[in-house]
Amino acid sequence: MKGVFVQKPFDLQIVDREEPEIQNPNEVKLKVLWGSICGSDIGIYTGKNRLATYPRIIGHEFGGIVVAVGSGVRGVRVGDHAAVDPVRSCGRCYACTSGHPNVCSSLEVVGVHRDGGFCEYVVAPEDTIYPVDTEKIPVEFLCLIEPYSIGAEVNSRANVTGGDRLLVMGSGPIGLSVMQIAKARGAVVMMTDLIDARLDRAVDMGADVTVNTGRTDLAEAVWNATDGEGMPVIVDTICTGWSFEQAIALACPAGRVVTLGTGGQTSSIAQVDITKKELTIVGSRLSNRRFPEVIRLMEQGKLNPEKMRTSVYPLTRAKEALTRVMEHPDTECKVAICFSY
Ligand SMILES: [Zn+2]
Ligand SMILES: [Zn+2]
Repeated sequence: MKGVFVQKPFDLQIVDREEPEIQNPNEVKLKVLWGSICGSDIGIYTGKNRLATYPRIIGHEFGGIVVAVGSGVRGVRVGDHAAVDPVRSCGRCYACTSGHPNVCSSLEVVGVHRDGGFCEYVVAPEDTIYPVDTEKIPVEFLCLIEPYSIGAEVNSRANVTGGDRLLVMGSGPIGLSVMQIAKARGAVVMMTDLIDARLDRAVDMGADVTVNTGRTDLAEAVWNATDGEGMPVIVDTICTGWSFEQAIALACPAGRVVTLGTGGQTSSIAQVDITKKELTIVGSRLSNRRFPEVIRLMEQGKLNPEKMRTSVYPLTRAKEALTRVMEHPDTECKVAICFSY
């Protein structure tokens, strides 16, 4: 079978590998049909993903059709279309036993720490497989369930409910997925970016207010929109030392701030800035089994994967697809890889 293989940074090839086979009774084998490219795939390709190990078959956003099931599998059948959760956890550590397998102390992510989904066949445990009715969700959008689950996790960590007001800093794919899940939960969302085309897409997908922070002072926009109170929920998808400082400054008393960064940049924040407002600051990583919420919202037509995806490339041109994402942050959002042409 063919797979997208990163031998070392900037060395990407389409290689021939042996097809994986089911080895345990709880496993499911899928033929991968669609994948999509994430910032972390780019990070592995460019050597900037600090969590990745090489050599690696990349890809953690993917879905396909079930072609075989182990003897103990009950909830998934051959012929089912499904999305695959890339989180692999131990089930025994503190995080796992307290309901946070997405930050398991021996966490592995498919496509980052072990071989991923950008290859023609994968084998995965049944509890990571989420069957999808393709009458309701077109098969080409199976791969976008995972990126939307990142947005669902953020909303869950910030406990976003109807009437909440959010500031989502950054209008890339993660910002858009956070915004659409928040809108589905009944929130009002302000989004920022430096690129007008990305803000236009955010509005098209449902953002209530956008601020181009290259032209407009964000603090002023937040004060004006909230009568000087500050924002109840702030999600930082820009993830620099500076953006985190700004998030803390713009949050209202009793507000919640969500961080998503994986970089090493530090921030300078005084404890008083957190204490005075009794802020809740939470990290959000991957997703804690949020696929069912995303599938339900997609079935209800509350998400726009068709607007999230901007280009499609065949598997054999995966390298061009990655380059496309890197070189066109203005026009590209999610670039998909189709395995069947
Ligand atoms: Zn991703
Ligand atoms: Zn664990």
